[in-house]
Amino acid sequence: MRNNLLILWILLLFQATLAQVRYEKPLKELSEESAFYGEIAQQIWTWAEMGYQETQSSALLQRTLSEQGFTIEAGVAEIPTAFVATYGSGSPVIAILGEYDALPGLSQKAVAYKVSNEGRAGHACGHHLFGTASAAAAIAIKNYLEAQGKSGTVKFYGCPAEEGGSGKVYMTRAGLFNDVDIALHWHPGSGNSANPRPALANKSAKFRFYGRSAHAAGAPQEGRSALDAVEAMNYMTNLMREHMDMSARIHYVITRGGEAPNVVPDFAEVYYYSRHPKRDEVIKLFDRIIDAAKGAALGTGTTMDYEMIGGTHDLLYVPTLQKLVHKNFQTIGGITYDEEEMVFAKEIAKSLGKPLNMEYVEAVEPYNLLAKAGGSTDVGDVSYAVPTAGLRAATWVPGTPAHSWQAVAAGGTSIGTKGMMNAAKALALTGMQLFDDPVFIEQVQKEFMEIRGTDFEYIPLLGDRKPALDYRN
Ligand SMILES: [Zn+2]
Repeated sequence: MRNNLLILWILLLFQATLAQVRYEKPLKELSEESAFYGEIAQQIWTWAEMGYQETQSSALLQRTLSEQGFTIEAGVAEIPTAFVATYGSGSPVIAILGEYDALPGLSQKAVAYKVSNEGRAGHACGHHLFGTASAAAAIAIKNYLEAQGKSGTVKFYGCPAEEGGSGKVYMTRAGLFNDVDIALHWHPGSGNSANPRPALANKSAKFRFYGRSAHAAGAPQEGRSALDAVEAMNYMTNLMREHMDMSARIHYVITRGGEAPNVVPDFAEVYYYSRHPKRDEVIKLFDRIIDAAKGAALGTGTTMDYEMIGGTHDLLYVPTLQKLVHKNFQTIGGITYDEEEMVFAKEIAKSLGKPLNMEYVEAVEPYNLLAKAGGSTDVGDVSYAVPTAGLRAATWVPGTPAHSWQAVAAGGTSIGTKGMMNAAKALALTGMQLFDDPVFIEQVQKEFMEIRGTDFEYIPLLGDRKPALDYRN
């Protein structure tokens, strides 16, 4: 009996080692392509195209995947810069998500001090790395399938306008994930982790008020101020804060407020975000904001309409799948900075007023459930369509917040490239394992159905509107 157990143990060990060796070669090949992918990322970083305007970035990623034998379907979900690149056939179908949009006004050079280029966009969320590393992972998985003579499909999803444009929501609504078994993604960050990280469901809209202009001193009684309506609406929603769930968030900016003080503004616009950890709660919260807008219009003698701009679900996570991604990220490990990168990092840390702690650049955070929901992501909608898991890789100097000049700067250096290649490896390793383990996929899907509920109905939070292709204009 004991002998049998020993033989079984040796067999298992042998199998595990074989599997290890099998993945080592494709991972090593992926590492060797760092300079190639680094250049692609830097090119996208330089273009820094904003949501739905990522024409060159999308084309470059399409070309890269197509040259590797992927079939490209461009302009999906009625979005010119969205695409799906497919390799292989049959099941399983594994999807890798990639983004490539930049943020307005955040342009910054790849140096450790602030040099902005007024008015231009910048990659302050690292999506140039996101898209490139995801494409690299998809290509590595394709190479593995080819080398092993395995059937199955790997798909890269080119997802535009994550920053406020909800690109993936339209892609989900169009049913593009219907045939997918598992979706993987990642995000640039200031440390390595693969913890379940919640995201807030979000509904955002532009409220527009229409009044009547008049001379503000000569004939004010003739005018009806659209700006008054915006202010009244904001006042009411600010009072609402006391009477809403503590985990809810409301924020706004006035995007149009009139042209001159001596003219009663006949047009004004305010751009609102409302967020909550749960989809159904954000729906109710947003309805109250609409009521405030209606009340404001009524009280100021103006009229109002609104345009939904974004709407994303919270993020659903499947523990078994998330733990696999974490385990694999730990296998890959962290990165180290060379001397020059260290000098850069110290300067950035100084600008942030924080000590430089390299712990989770050089290692991966232990698995924990402590992360709190901060922002929102359109990955949320994908995560309700198909089991989805991801990771965050250290592409920025520790302590760097997203959407900062420090994030743009590091993303334009070798620090960004190193971190992104590390993410690509963890995703590729996970993808290869999934193709080797159909039973695991089944188990994940079962768990997903249990968590989501079989009676779940997908309601796109931005309704049936067409993609807001001009939301950055
Ligand atoms: Zn982002």
